[in-house]
Amino acid sequence: MDSTTATAELGWMIYPSLGWEEVSGYDENMNTIRTYQVCNVFDASQNNWVRTKYIRRQGAQRIHVEMKFSVRDCSSIPKVPGSCKETFNLYYFESDSDVATKVYPAWMENPWVKVDTIAADESFSQVDLGVGMMKINTEVRSFGPVSRNGFYLAFQDYGACMSLIAVKVFYRKCPRIIRNGAIFQETLSGAESTSLVSARGTCVPNGEEVDVPIKLYCNGDGEWLVPIGRCVCKAGYESLDNETVCKAPSAVSIMHQVSRAVDSITLSWSQPDQPNGVILDYELQYYEKYTAESNSSLLRSQTNTAVIRGLKQGTIYVFQVRARTVAGFGRFSGKMFFQTMTEDEYNSSLREKLPLIIGSAAAGVVFLIAVVVLIIVCSRRGSDRTESEITDKIQHYTSGHMSPGMKIYIDPFTYEDPNEAVREFAKEIDVTCVKIEQVIGAGEFGEVCSGNLRLPGKREILVAIKTLKSGYTEKQRRDFLSEASIMGQFDHPNIIHLEGVVTKSTPVMIITEFMENGSLDSFLRQNDGQFTVIQLVGMLRGIAAGMKYLCDMNYVHRDLAARNILVNSNLVCKVSDFGLSRFLEDDTSDPTYTSALGGKIPIRWTAPEAIQYRKFTSSSDVWSYGIVMWEVMSYGERPYWDMSNQDVINAIEQDYRLPPPMDCPNALHQLMLDCWQKDRNNRPKFSQIVNTLDKMIRNPGSLKATTPLSSGVHLPLLDRSTPDFSSFSTVDEWLDAIKMGQYKENFANEDLTTFEAVSQMTMEDILKVGVILAGHQKKILNSVQMMRAQMNQIQSVEV
Ligand code: AMP
Repeated sequence: MDSTTATAELGWMIYPSLGWEEVSGYDENMNTIRTYQVCNVFDASQNNWVRTKYIRRQGAQRIHVEMKFSVRDCSSIPKVPGSCKETFNLYYFESDSDVATKVYPAWMENPWVKVDTIAADESFSQVDLGVGMMKINTEVRSFGPVSRNGFYLAFQDYGACMSLIAVKVFYRKCPRIIRNGAIFQETLSGAESTSLVSARGTCVPNGEEVDVPIKLYCNGDGEWLVPIGRCVCKAGYESLDNETVCKAPSAVSIMHQVSRAVDSITLSWSQPDQPNGVILDYELQYYEKYTAESNSSLLRSQTNTAVIRGLKQGTIYVFQVRARTVAGFGRFSGKMFFQTMTEDEYNSSLREKLPLIIGSAAAGVVFLIAVVVLIIVCSRRGSDRTESEITDKIQHYTSGHMSPGMKIYIDPFTYEDPNEAVREFAKEIDVTCVKIEQVIGAGEFGEVCSGNLRLPGKREILVAIKTLKSGYTEKQRRDFLSEASIMGQFDHPNIIHLEGVVTKSTPVMIITEFMENGSLDSFLRQNDGQFTVIQLVGMLRGIAAGMKYLCDMNYVHRDLAARNILVNSNLVCKVSDFGLSRFLEDDTSDPTYTSALGGKIPIRWTAPEAIQYRKFTSSSDVWSYGIVMWEVMSYGERPYWDMSNQDVINAIEQDYRLPPPMDCPNALHQLMLDCWQKDRNNRPKFSQIVNTLDKMIRNPGSLKATTPLSSGVHLPLLDRSTPDFSSFSTVDEWLDAIKMGQYKENFANEDLTTFEAVSQMTMEDILKVGVILAGHQKKILNSVQMMRAQMNQIQSVEV
């Protein structure tokens, strides 16, 4: 209610009739307003009431009244009697309907409820100010709780000379808002000025509450306080505009050309920053630049690359891509322009590439591709051409077993310009943000240092800085930076994190997170025997989780070894070393990498099929992981000790495998043996390895059983060709099968007639049985170890 907005008489009830009087006046802006005046200062015992009309409560619990008024200074009135006042009273009366009359409610304190006696801050004397220049006071009073449908206000004058210029009645409320992903409806303040009214939020469409119900409190001043709880967008939705809406996947931010030909273009793009759920596939829209967008074609791709065929030569096309999740399509990316090759460009690009292709033809497969490309080159006619050999490579990455929409690794060498890969996958860091502290190691291309990185607006962090030594060739620079282009595509807690690169000044640098404990092999050697089995298994679990991520990204590491795992101060292990150069033939500096057909190979860590015919897959990485397990459990022992590489290759070929390291739980050794299955399809997947290790961590009892024999120094390699004991019904049959039948009687004499008893035999027992020939001792010991491993496997299956 606002008396100043009244266009006609206010018509408030007056009692007695010679008390208050309604008169027209002007406000500060000279608008006409209706006011009430009273000035019976010379008559004693004044009791003048004026009552507003019925005011509806409208749900409010606390009512505020703003009054503008002026009061004449009693001392300025000549011969004023002692009864002159400079104050008045404010009352209210609640009622469910407009029932007031001339006599009801009675004009007295009870039934009315007094709110306050109001005094003027400033009074005026007519002498000072002249007629019409009154001092206006503004006072606000509030009352509550009110609960009836409405109320009246009354102003009681008991002897003042005053004017009630304006009355405004209002309540306070907190407005409708969206906070922390939830909508809060308009909420009225509470009954007391200190009340807090709790309001429940409802999540914005496609959002859901996390943990606690989302709540907000509205205070007595109509202000929202700090929210409790939060809504987040459901899977498949992205929170936008300050958490006020949940929308479908975000847009793909960048698309780039991997390669192009006369009639096709191969594009790849980054995953949306916030896929918000599993990306089912991508939709690519494209059209010729100089035709209408309505003529566009659509292409679906299950990965973040696509080959767009059937294009016109030398023509610019406009491309846009968007991701689809169960929630639907995200926004299209910005428009990007790519041009097919002209005939001339194509021929000259082939001329450039031919020597390269022939030069790298040492490996048979590549040679074959080269021949195929040559044949295509020689016989190409018209539109039946395929893309360059670069495209063959990229297709290798996009083929087959990928989950739809999954982010895959892109080999930086598939870029026509590998510098483009660096620009896309690695952030350029201003050299002034980097402070080198000290040299901590030697890398392939130069020193590795520790230091600090302070990016604008971020706190300083410790970093490792790999440098490229001066005098490098363009190829060395490219190879050096390729590691950053690879690392920059990964984002996982068990993969070393790339901060960025410095390429615009020298030395060129690769900056990564700092790992306080350096590489895992030397760390374990320095702390021999210091960790619990659970700590070691925790480290292995981390490495397996990192490898699972790489495997999901379709990245094959090829050089998984404890030396390439880094350890931080919390014992978190991260997979590192994504450089490719050490595999190259012309690098002779490191004996770990042995020349093999088509490049160098770390023999002791590499699966047989990868050594024999370069079949590097995630399954060959699993083999290497088994070796890392062995390195970890033996605190950095060298796999196969001082055996020569050729002996290692031969032993593996003959089904010999590394024995359990000292005190290594049987279950872990069994997992190693699984990783070293000859047939790569029988090896566990990294996801299974992670699960198995998780189970062991949850159930440490499963790690109790160790091999008594393993407390010796070096055990002979295990002979995996030993037949499975469970296919025999008696110990005698088993002895026959391992061609040791001549000891049947000796075993029986020592009561070694059950597999249970035999599986517990130690070297001492074997001697006691009367086996004196070293070859036979070795054979029986091996077979007993295998029996134990097989038993363990059976038990774990039963569990
Ligand atoms: P690399 O060239 O990656 O083999 O690095 C050479 C050596 O530098 C490693 O063996 C580590 O000792 C050390 N190093 C490399 N990266 C880091 C890092 N991020 N944190 C700590 N030390 C590192």
